[in-house]
Amino acid sequence: MSAPPHEARPGVTGARLADTQHGMRRRNLARVMHTVAAHGPLSRASVASRIGLTRAAVSTLVDELTRSGLLEELGPERPGRVGRPGSALAVSARGPVGIGAEVGVDHLSVCAVDLRGDVRARAGRAVGNRGRPPEPVLADLAELIGQVVREAEREGLRPAGLAVAVPGLVARDSHTVVRAPNLDWHRTDVGALLPVELPLTVDNEANFGARAELWLGEGVPDDFLHVSAEVGIGAALVVDGLLLRGSRGFAGELGHVPVRPDGPACPCGGRGCLEQYAGEEAVLRAAGLRQGPDRVGLLVERAADGDEKVRQALRDAGTALGIALTGAVNLLDPRTVVLGGALSRLAPWLIPSLEEELGRRTAGRGCSVTVSRIGSDGPVLGAAHSVVRAVLDDPAGAV
Ligand SMILES: [Zn+2]
Repeated sequence: MSAPPHEARPGVTGARLADTQHGMRRRNLARVMHTVAAHGPLSRASVASRIGLTRAAVSTLVDELTRSGLLEELGPERPGRVGRPGSALAVSARGPVGIGAEVGVDHLSVCAVDLRGDVRARAGRAVGNRGRPPEPVLADLAELIGQVVREAEREGLRPAGLAVAVPGLVARDSHTVVRAPNLDWHRTDVGALLPVELPLTVDNEANFGARAELWLGEGVPDDFLHVSAEVGIGAALVVDGLLLRGSRGFAGELGHVPVRPDGPACPCGGRGCLEQYAGEEAVLRAAGLRQGPDRVGLLVERAADGDEKVRQALRDAGTALGIALTGAVNLLDPRTVVLGGALSRLAPWLIPSLEEELGRRTAGRGCSVTVSRIGSDGPVLGAAHSVVRAVLDDPAGAV
């Protein structure tokens, strides 16, 4: 590798120089990994021309990544071409996997995603977690994680880390769920309660859902507001491809934006919050339906059958969403609002009134409303992919 341009500059100490070279090597390893992940299979020469390094420098980096099991050689590339064929490189299908997990109000799910982005193992269970203490919920989750890890290991894969999505507020850079009202969890340290020996990340499900949209969604811009719902309603704002977390990590609590300041009391302590009009339970109540195991499925079925009471309840929910989103759109100017999670299944009946309300209140801004194709899998996929991205971002750290 050629020396960094400031090597000869006076005042750079030997230790600092070593740090600089080490940092540059790590960055270059990441550039090679990202390039092959995004555009592979590629020859060494193609990688070199894409990232602007010499072929010799790229070969050294590739050798290191191949030895670490992060890249693999697929054999001669384009054998019909004149000249010595280069060996095509691809991200390894046997290397590290990211384990993603989700604690939902009504379900648990776990999956393993490899460096190519393929789901290699998954497990899930429908279970009512509302009001259950964290210990048994996380013990159940650990069992599913164990199943997925064993299945991945049988295929020669190596779990690189675990990311857990929860429907609640997670203190920034911690494993602590500060408050998850729909689970009734308070100050729950997931790291301490989950008997799994893998590097752990815990985050709000809406944050993982938004990152799944950013990384896996089709035609999703770098600036968008992702809105998802289960029992609660969450949002996550992506600005220039990065998640806006807020000072404490609590950004995106769209469900508690007031729609009618004098409306019904909300468990958060406020009144007339969006959740009181567009949350699953509020919509079911307005539609005259009972609670059941697949509440969203029931709403979809009735709305598709033309049940006018259900359709009206969804129209009203769309209007409430439009009012709540007005503040976010006026303040933050996202390019689009993406409806994800359960909202994506209800979108046909929510969107007309949502767009009407939002359009009236944000005239001329041109913020479109689109529907996620990832839907309810967003949080668990986003969690697993966040581990994969961390490996691509710092392949030296994954070895
Ligand atoms: Zn509230």
